Amino acid sequence: MGTYKYDVVVVGGGGAGLMTAIEVAENKSIKVAIVSKVYPTRSHTGAAQGGLNAALGHVRSEDSPEMHAYDTVKGADFLADQEAVFFMCKQAPEIIYRLDRWGVPFSRLEDGRIAQRPFGGASFPRTVYSADKTGHVILHTLFEQALSRDNIDFFNEHFLLDIVAEEDGAKGVVTLDIRSGEINLLLARAVVLATGGFARIYWSRSTNAVGNTGDGQAVAFRVGVPLKDMEFIQFHPTGLAKTGILLSEACRGEGGYLLNSRGERFMSRYAPDKMELAPRDMVSRAIETEIREGRGVGEGINAYILLDLTHLGEEKINKKLPQVRQLAIDFEGVDPVEKPVPIRPTAHYCMGGIHVVDYRTSETPLKGLFAVGECACVSVHGANRLGGNSLIELLVFGKACADYLKDNLSYYKDYSNGEVYIKKAEEFISSLINREGNERVANLRREMGEITWNNMGIFRDESSLKEAYEKLTELYERWNYIRVADKSRIFNTNLIEALELRNMLELARVVALSALNRKESRGGHSREDYPKRDDKNFLKHTLATKGENGYIRLDYIPVDVSRYSPEERKY
Ligand SMILES: Cc1cc2nc3c(=O)[nH]c(=O)nc-3n(C[C@H](O)[C@H](O)[C@H](O)COP(=O)(O)OP(=O)(O)OC[C@H]3O[C@@H](n4cnc5c(N)ncnc54)[C@H](O)[C@@H]3O)c2cc1C
Repeated sequence: MGTYKYDVVVVGGGGAGLMTAIEVAENKSIKVAIVSKVYPTRSHTGAAQGGLNAALGHVRSEDSPEMHAYDTVKGADFLADQEAVFFMCKQAPEIIYRLDRWGVPFSRLEDGRIAQRPFGGASFPRTVYSADKTGHVILHTLFEQALSRDNIDFFNEHFLLDIVAEEDGAKGVVTLDIRSGEINLLLARAVVLATGGFARIYWSRSTNAVGNTGDGQAVAFRVGVPLKDMEFIQFHPTGLAKTGILLSEACRGEGGYLLNSRGERFMSRYAPDKMELAPRDMVSRAIETEIREGRGVGEGINAYILLDLTHLGEEKINKKLPQVRQLAIDFEGVDPVEKPVPIRPTAHYCMGGIHVVDYRTSETPLKGLFAVGECACVSVHGANRLGGNSLIELLVFGKACADYLKDNLSYYKDYSNGEVYIKKAEEFISSLINREGNERVANLRREMGEITWNNMGIFRDESSLKEAYEKLTELYERWNYIRVADKSRIFNTNLIEALELRNMLELARVVALSALNRKESRGGHSREDYPKRDDKNFLKHTLATKGENGYIRLDYIPVDVSRYSPEERKY
């Protein structure tokens, strides 16, 4: 058991957490801690393949941050906050050059400038990349930068349990040291959550790392911080059929086609201009519609359509999509150089997250608590994120949050003594380990995955969502009877999985309820009983706040549409 004192504690060692920590640590007098439940280089940022967006204009000089912003707002189905989007798009080019100077090995054009590829929903090729391993190289470069700062300490394999939330704001975090099983208290003037997404609530079909369980969102929710726009989940069109593992949008960006069982490029019926490079929500719905109407290959959960890359040729595939080729061979048994690859949509990204009040600071309604990266909802992605806009979001808002903290830390004064938080956490963990229930983590998790995929997936309606909410509430109750079979404290992964499941169930209920109350279709939220977007009643953000006894309160706040008026979304 230990108590530590820092100025800033960042929870999360992915792209968002590392960027925030590096930038705060520019001020050498600020002591920073990074807490991560996995070794930082294993964070999900490392799995990002396709790239990140910035209007550098290297391929088409007409591109501009304004065009990037417009594409983002349109892609978001007009639910994004427009000043925040503009801020991100304006800052994006400078961030790319910063990464370049830090040593990220970006792919290049013939003349040596940074290359850019076309991506879904973008008017010009603007996605900066390193073959199809962009997240990997960014994460490792950021980690090296963080290691080189003397005023950053790492708490690797420490699991966030609670936030020290006092009357006057957040004052630190309580963590479980996974290796020793001990509870630690990290006191700080400011806490930054950068804990990533929660698309693992779709346990049966997701591109996400098994650790993407939304712990930061769930912990924030439990201390009373609202979650925003949780109904908006992104389903990526091209997951491998058997496993849901991602094949990057870069496949289509580099010229791949989607074919149904008749060999038709069916996207011509759904998005005649953009074809396969329409935004993800549209392409995913098109694929599912083809399957439902019998033009997929096979039936039921195993049905799929085909992603054809064969015409790109072996040389281009090896140069631009080497990881994609390997993933298809290893996990689907198909070499894309020789044959089209079976694919189907898969849960990928969470547009919603912890409510951020001001995009310039990333502060939440709880003073001293900040949220950046996928766990946050700023909101720049609205109802549907464009591919390549998450990595850039992490970096832009991570830096902005850090810049604010560097100058304003004195405003967040006293540390709490926090002993009571250690005691509470200790009691909770020992009672969980010693409990003699008869429920199993694996069973509850599987049931959760079936409900989320079947009832609140790509298509939803009133009855499917009601049923989802009720069944998830039952699972949430049953979690209290979970038995942790491993009774030891050292590296107890059984215990960690139980804690993660609790967090996922907490969030899955919020998704179901928020989706049930949004009686319209917009972006990733597609209601079969309300197939049209309804700006009159639903051009607003959902805020979900935790009440007593499992009750969730929903409120709504306006969307910033100060620059572009909503219009019909055609591609
Ligand atoms: C397969 C895949 C490919 C993608 N490709 C792209 C792409 O090409 N372009 C793009 O823009 N976006 C892409 N995305 C989305 C993007 O990669 C993610 O949104 C982004 O990397 C999230 O970064 P993050 O720093 O917010 O979180 P993560 O990188 O997920 O990091 C989360 C961190 O929080 C820590 N953490 C979580 N819970 C706890 C806890 N309880 N206690 C302590 N620490 C905790 C973890 O240890 C980890 O360090 C992709 C996503 C996936 C899944």
